[in-house]
Parts: sequence; C-alpha cells; structure tokens
Amino acid sequence: MENLMEELKDRLKEKGLKLTPQRRATLEVLFTNQGEHLNTEEIYDIVKEKCPEIGLATVYRTLQLLDEMGLISKLNLDDGCSRYEYNNHDDDHQHHHLICQICGGVTEVEIDLLEQLEDAIENEYKFKIKDHKVKFFGICSKCE
Ligand SMILES: [Zn+2]
Ligand SMILES: [Zn+2]
Ligand SMILES: [Zn+2]
Repeated sequence: MENLMEELKDRLKEKGLKLTPQRRATLEVLFTNQGEHLNTEEIYDIVKEKCPEIGLATVYRTLQLLDEMGLISKLNLDDGCSRYEYNNHDDDHQHHHLICQICGGVTEVEIDLLEQLEDAIENEYKFKIKDHKVKFFGICSKCE
C-alpha cells in the first residue's frame, strides 16, 4: 500500500498535481475493494467515511484522473453506471468479466485464455495486441 501511494505521489507530481487526502482515499478504496467493481456512488460512500467533506463531483474527477494515469480502469458493464477497478500491474492483459443478466452479478475470469486468438489476430492483421476488454453476458449458477 505504501508503494502504491509513493507511485501515486510520483505520477501526480509528473502532472504538477499534489497528493491530497481525497486522491489518496479514492485510490485506497479501489485497492482494498478489488474484485468489487464499485460504481461512482458506492466509491463516494466509502471515501466519505474517511473524508467527510468530499463531494461527489470531486470523487468523479479523481476517478477520471486515476483512470487517465492508468492506476485504475473504468468498466462499462452495460448496467447504466460507470464502475471502476484497481489496475493490477502484475498482468498487463485485463481479466474478463462474466455478467449475469438476471442478478447483475459480476464474476472475474483470471486466466487470459485468448493467447491463441491473439496470435491469430496478430498474424492475420499485423496488429500488436496490448490489452483487451472482454465481457460475457449470460446467467450465473445462482440464477440458473
Ligand atoms: Zn490477452
Ligand atoms: Zn445471477
Ligand atoms: Zn474485474
């Protein structure tokens, strides 16, 4: 966590920005809630516990900033709200999301499984694949 905050501080500095308690708290929420895919309002509710004076607009702008800096990713799960998740730098390819069309639950698929497809695309289209966003829509085991 301290390393992460050091990284945040350095990245903000490059942009001429300061590490404020609000920015720190926002990244902290996403880091400690990995796998949760929180939306802006949910993140706001948790950040508010630490920074009671923070407004929704500040959280919104901070999320955009962290997304631009590549520390978090914005997810569009087609449920009408923006969700965010912490960017785990260990794997440079984003994990896949399984979205239940009945309960809206989101499950992460940790393994890439796309290597063969990526190779085929790279050969066929001479296109170097750096990342992907894959969403599967269906019915989860609890709803079946
Ligand atoms: Zn991949
Ligand atoms: Zn379900
Ligand atoms: Zn995810």
